[in-house]
Amino acid sequence: MRTDVLHVGFDNLTMEEAVSEAEKLMETEGFKYIVTPNPEIVWLCRKDRELAEAVKNAAMVIPDGIGIIYGARILGRPLKEKVPGADFAQKLFSKMAKKGQKVYLLGSKPGVAELAGEKILEAHPGIVVCGTADGYFKDDGPVIEKINSAEPDLLLVCLGAPKQELWMKRNGHKLKAKLAIGLGGSLDVYSGLAQRAPEKWQQMNLEWLYRLIKQPSRIGRQLRLPAFVLAVVGQRIKGE
Ligand code: UDP
Repeated sequence: MRTDVLHVGFDNLTMEEAVSEAEKLMETEGFKYIVTPNPEIVWLCRKDRELAEAVKNAAMVIPDGIGIIYGARILGRPLKEKVPGADFAQKLFSKMAKKGQKVYLLGSKPGVAELAGEKILEAHPGIVVCGTADGYFKDDGPVIEKINSAEPDLLLVCLGAPKQELWMKRNGHKLKAKLAIGLGGSLDVYSGLAQRAPEKWQQMNLEWLYRLIKQPSRIGRQLRLPAFVLAVVGQRIKGE
């Protein structure tokens, strides 16, 4: 059973458990996908039914940031730990490298996925980067065809939220990939074009503040965080 935070169910797994579940999902036939909601996505799910359904239909729902962990704690049903999507996929790459499995990188601006692919190959020799495509396409058809001819074990869908969650829900039945993960701006990070917060900031759970300082234009998005916390407190009071 999933742990409910504002009516979005999260799988209560450690990073290691989540990676091992994902490995199992890649061993089975048929398309499935993983989502990594942060408080902002949970907030959007309240208003957007299709997004809520996309998250619910995922094979795994992992808590991307510390906000969800605090939310679950306030609700008295703590989750084991945060599972940041970008780190989760890196750990999965190292398992995939040992098996020579294939990853396809979709998203970000032209050229970024290729650069990210080179960096992933350098860090995880043995993995096969079986294709890349930027995230600014008009028609889904040609992109899906390219992905399907590569038949990846893993497809990273990095179109930002909520676009990537909706894209996986709408197109999943046409995709010949075993598993996909919606990973936001991770290709920008893997390529080296964007930096994660320094380790110390991450340990202090201040990654969100670092991102805000680097990209002050995110303020509008981050203002959803206090609203999220208030709603969680409301859920606690109602005893839901
Ligand atoms: N992006 C894309 N296609 C789009 C819109 C966005 O590929 O139509 C990419 C964008 O270039 C960036 C990522 O999606 O690499 C979104 O990054 P952000 O850090 O905003 O994602 P979040 O994880 O916060 O959703």
